[in-house]
Amino acid sequence: MIYDVIVVGAGLAGSSAAIQLAQRGYQVLLLEQARYPTHRLCGEFLSVEVIEIFARLGILETVRAVGAYPIQNVYLTNNQGAEFRGELPGTALGLSRYQLDRILWERAEAVGAIAHQGTAVKAIAGSFGEGFQVSTHRGNFDGRFVLGAFGKASSLDHQLNRPFIQQKSPWIASKAHYQGQELPQGIELHAFPGGYCGLSQVEAGKINVCWIAHQRVLKNNPRDRHTPEALFQNSMLAERLQSWERVTSPKNLAQISFARKDPFEDDLCLIGDAGGMITPLCGDGMAMALRSADLVVPLISQLLQDSFPLATFKDLYERAWRQEFNQRLQLGRFMHQAFINPTLAAIGVNSCRFFPALGRWLIASTRGKAA
Ligand SMILES: Cc1cc2nc3c(=O)[nH]c(=O)nc-3n(C[C@H](O)[C@H](O)[C@H](O)COP(=O)(O)OP(=O)(O)OC[C@H]3O[C@@H](n4cnc5c(N)ncnc54)[C@H](O)[C@@H]3O)c2cc1C
Repeated sequence: MIYDVIVVGAGLAGSSAAIQLAQRGYQVLLLEQARYPTHRLCGEFLSVEVIEIFARLGILETVRAVGAYPIQNVYLTNNQGAEFRGELPGTALGLSRYQLDRILWERAEAVGAIAHQGTAVKAIAGSFGEGFQVSTHRGNFDGRFVLGAFGKASSLDHQLNRPFIQQKSPWIASKAHYQGQELPQGIELHAFPGGYCGLSQVEAGKINVCWIAHQRVLKNNPRDRHTPEALFQNSMLAERLQSWERVTSPKNLAQISFARKDPFEDDLCLIGDAGGMITPLCGDGMAMALRSADLVVPLISQLLQDSFPLATFKDLYERAWRQEFNQRLQLGRFMHQAFINPTLAAIGVNSCRFFPALGRWLIASTRGKAA
């Protein structure tokens, strides 16, 4: 059988694209290497604009039913005692990827996508027009179009010889769930020398602790890999961590890259983190992954109906992508670099405290608009 679209990777971008394509009546194959439910490295803070997207995808009721935590305010600190409390431009959500990825996966199946989990894609070959071949250890699949939604770093990036994967990156990250006293603001961001840690209240009274840091913070670290000494240099973060109990095993990842990527590798179209990743400080990567699926689906539909040639499709998607995400990605890189530097983080946090309009502008400029 020849599928209309094969989607590789069922995180937020892949599953939401598969849902929308299946709802439009296309034969969709969704391939995922993991098995759901599974824990994922992520801050688990869902920016305000996802509510409207979840409603459109038909999962908002389910997301609420599993206990997604409503978040309206943010609390920022740094290791020198600077602090800022700001309002979000609407209601955001705290929800574990353990629940969210499963919900999206099940929705894709429910609307008619053929979905295989535990199926790692080894190679993608072919072109639009001639047809694509996707090989997995379970066999090969043919498709008219392939959408790459395989996240920030995949074995496929090596197979495709993508430039960003050849460069070393110093960023490491870790996450785990904790149980303890509820966070008064729902989301907190605590800077420490060389990195920052997000605390997000998620479902069932759990708190997600997720940090990212330069690899040097792990050097001479007397504690375990998930809680390096550097985290305890921020007294507010130390107070929180010491009062909670960890309830899941840590998920760690090294070589996290924020390098520029292209949204195409030959005829392979890339969405979500596979097309470009925003720094975690902004807490908007999941919303961007969902939005990139929104941008590409109507264009794929027109391409498959021969409304325009591939070159026009590529041009329209690249332009839409740049217009929607470029400014956010650049500001995100700048804020990330500033926040890991204790002096700049203190200046930034204090500036937001004394000029709340600046804090509101930064929050609004690093995310899409809520409907
Ligand atoms: C430390 C950290 C904290 C973050 N915190 C937040 C936050 O709080 N809020 C926020 O909005 N964003 C956050 N992000 C960003 C967010 O996690 C990503 O932007 C988002 O997950 C991107 O979704 P995606 O669908 O593109 O990729 P993913 O969610 O990574 O999904 C990719 C999928 O592809 C699958 N895959 C990969 N290779 C293959 C293969 N060969 N075959 C089959 N399947 C494959 C993977 O298993 C995975 O399921 C954070 C990121 C980091 C690193």
